[in-house]
Amino acid sequence: MSARGRLLVLSGPSGVGKDTVIHALLDLRPDLHRPVAFTTRAPRPGEIDGREYSFVAPAEFEARRARGEFLETARVHGHLYGTSRDRVEVLRDRGLDVVLKIDVQGAAQLRQTLSDALFVFLAPPSRQELLARLVGRATESPEELRRRTADADRELAEAGWYHHVVVNEEVDRAARAISALLDRKPT
Ligand code: 5GP
Repeated sequence: MSARGRLLVLSGPSGVGKDTVIHALLDLRPDLHRPVAFTTRAPRPGEIDGREYSFVAPAEFEARRARGEFLETARVHGHLYGTSRDRVEVLRDRGLDVVLKIDVQGAAQLRQTLSDALFVFLAPPSRQELLARLVGRATESPEELRRRTADADRELAEAGWYHHVVVNEEVDRAARAISALLDRKPT
């Protein structure tokens, strides 16, 4: 029987490039998979239910939470997000590694329960650059943008307790750095 897959938890403020780095990481590591999380936020243009997220109504989210279906949940930028326990376990049981894109509150919950996970914080080269990226992305309303800026400052303040902080200066370099950390971590 193969060993259980490893678990990588990646956090970082909105706009730092977590999705892009995760894509690069998935290209580098065929055994790495990303289970689809649940959220109550609306899909952005181009996003597909079951691909970026499982998009659900708040009532369905709460019902799933009450049934204990989530490994962790958090309210981020005013919306609920949750990691499906089943989707993670199925992959790890098959010996596949798992990467989760999770905000700092959710990651802190996992730190209590998943002692074997690797926690990596993706940081921007500077706060100024992060705010420029958030504005440049232009997928959010001004109100959403203000909220994400305030949340970004709160997230940056939490970087200290992660196992590693990787600065996203250049996507491929950041992905390779995280990949190397995963190789170092014993299962
Ligand atoms: P977005 O809506 O832009 O994809 O993600 C917004 C924030 O929600 C990101 O900071 C991301 O880390 C967080 N997030 C995404 N999925 C989850 C999840 O399953 N659990 C938690 N706790 N946070 C998540």
